Amino acid sequence: MKTLQNLIDGIWEDSLGDTLLDVVNPATENAVARAPGGCRDDVDRAVAAAVQAQPAWAALLLAERVAWISAWADVVAEHADELAELECREMGKPVGIGRTFIDGAVAGLKASAGQALSYGFEETVAHDDGGSTRILRHPLGATAVITPWNFPVTMVLGALGPLLAAGNTVVVKPSEKSPLSAVRLFELLNLPPGVVNLVLGDARAGGPLAEHEQIQLVHFTGSVEAGRKVGAGTGERLHRAVLELGGKDPVVVDAGVDPRATAAAVAFGAFINTGQICTSMERIYVHEEVADAFVEALVEAAGTYTMGDGHDEGVMMGPLVDERQRDIVRRHVADAVERGATIRAGGVEPAGRGFFYPATVLTGVDESMLVMNEETFGPLAPVVVVPSFAAGIERASRSRFGLAATVYTDDPDHMAAAARIPAGVVWINQWQGGGPERLYEPAGDSGMGATGAVAAYDAATRPSSVHIAARLAS
Ligand code: NAD
Repeated sequence: MKTLQNLIDGIWEDSLGDTLLDVVNPATENAVARAPGGCRDDVDRAVAAAVQAQPAWAALLLAERVAWISAWADVVAEHADELAELECREMGKPVGIGRTFIDGAVAGLKASAGQALSYGFEETVAHDDGGSTRILRHPLGATAVITPWNFPVTMVLGALGPLLAAGNTVVVKPSEKSPLSAVRLFELLNLPPGVVNLVLGDARAGGPLAEHEQIQLVHFTGSVEAGRKVGAGTGERLHRAVLELGGKDPVVVDAGVDPRATAAAVAFGAFINTGQICTSMERIYVHEEVADAFVEALVEAAGTYTMGDGHDEGVMMGPLVDERQRDIVRRHVADAVERGATIRAGGVEPAGRGFFYPATVLTGVDESMLVMNEETFGPLAPVVVVPSFAAGIERASRSRFGLAATVYTDDPDHMAAAARIPAGVVWINQWQGGGPERLYEPAGDSGMGATGAVAAYDAATRPSSVHIAARLAS
C-alpha cells in the first residue's frame, strides 16, 4: 500500500516521524493508503523552506505571481475528475458532486488571486500642506494553512490565492483523514520550490505548525475545539490567526412561500455532502401556516437522497467520513427521540460495511435537544414549528455559533429583518453563493478574523505608513 510523503522545498520526502496512519475509504472501511502521523521535525523543515523561499517570491512582480497561481489553477482544472475521485475515496463525497465543487474552487482561486491586481498594495494620500502619506502593504512572510476533510481540495485552494498573491509563502497541513487529494494537488504544483510546502499528519503536525515562531499567520479551518488551541498558540506569540470554525446554521421558512420548492432547497442544504458542510442547515424554523405542507415535502425530498458508494452513478449521498462522525449523528437522534421528537424519514442505518446514515427528518424538536445545540455535521433535518416569522428569527438568533443563516420569504420587511441574525452571512431565498465580493467574519464561536474579498488581502498583509513632509519643519 502506498505511503504518502511530504513536499518540502519542491522535493517529496518521507516523514521523520515514527507513526503512520491508515487512510480509510468510508464507503468500504478499507485502508487505501498510509500517511504520516506528523511530527515537529517535519514542520521545522517545511517552515525553514517557506522562510527561505519567501523573499524571492515576494520580489517577483505582482502580475508574475498572479500568473504563476493562475497557471497552477489551469493544471488543477485539467485534473478535476481525478481529484474528485480521490476525494470520494478518502472521505466519501460522490464524484460528480465533488467535481462541481472543485470546478468552483479553481474558479475561486483564479478570482481571488486576480483581486490582487486591484488591491491597494501601495497608495499615496496627498496632504493639504504639500506633504503626503504612503501606505504600503507588505507580505507577512511564511504562513500556514490548516484544513479539514469535508472539502479537501476546496479548503486548500480557497485559502491560498490571497496569501500567495500577496507575496507570502505557505506550509499546508491538510486533514489526516483526506491527504490523498492534497498530495495530488501538490504533485500538480508548478510554483517555484518552497513557495508552497505540504506537511501531512494530525495535531502532531498541526500543533507545532500553528505554534511555530516563524509562522506569521495561521489560516485555520476546522472545529471550535482545535481552533481555540490554534488561537491560543498564535496569541501567545502575537501572531495572526484567521479561524473559520463550526456552525449550527438556522433556516427560517416564512408563511407564503412555496412549500415544495422551499423543502427541496432545505433538503439540499441539510443533506448534500451528507450534511458535512460548516454551513449545512442544522436548525429549521417553519411558520405554522406552511408547516404541514413543508414537512410532507421535506420527507418526500429526503427519500430522493439515495445513499451509496460515491463512485456509483446516481448516488446523491455518500457515507459519513468515519465511525466517530456517525456516532455523533446516532447520539443526536437518540437524544431527540428520548426527549419526544419523531423520526419522519430516515433514522434507520443500512446493514453492511461503510459509515452510512440516511437523510433523516425529525419533527417535534425543541432547543433542549442536542440536535439543536451541538454541531451535528450529518444528514439530519430537525424541524421546529413557530407561530410567526418574528419568532423564527428570534429563535434562529439564539445560538453560540454564527457562521451563516438562510431565510425563505417573499416579504421585503422580513428580508430586512433577516439581516439581524448574528451570522457572518445571511442568504435570502438562496443557499451558498454570493460572489467574490462576499466579505464576512463569523460571529460567536464560529470563528475570528474577517475574510473574503478585500479582507483576505488585509489579513495576508501588514500595513505601514511613510509620512513625507512638504519641507523640513522649522
Ligand atoms: P478538526 O478541528 O478536527 O481538524 C481540522 C484540522 O486541524 C485538521 O487538519 C487537523 O489535523 C488539525 N488539527 C487538529 N487539532 C489541531 C491542533 N491542536 N492544532 C493545529 N491543528 C490541529 O476539524 P475536522 O473534523 O477536520 O473538520 C470539521 C470541522 O470543521 C467542523 O466543525 C466544521 O464546521 C468545520 N469547518 C468549518 C468551515 C468554515 O469555513 N467555517 C469549513 C469547513 C469545516
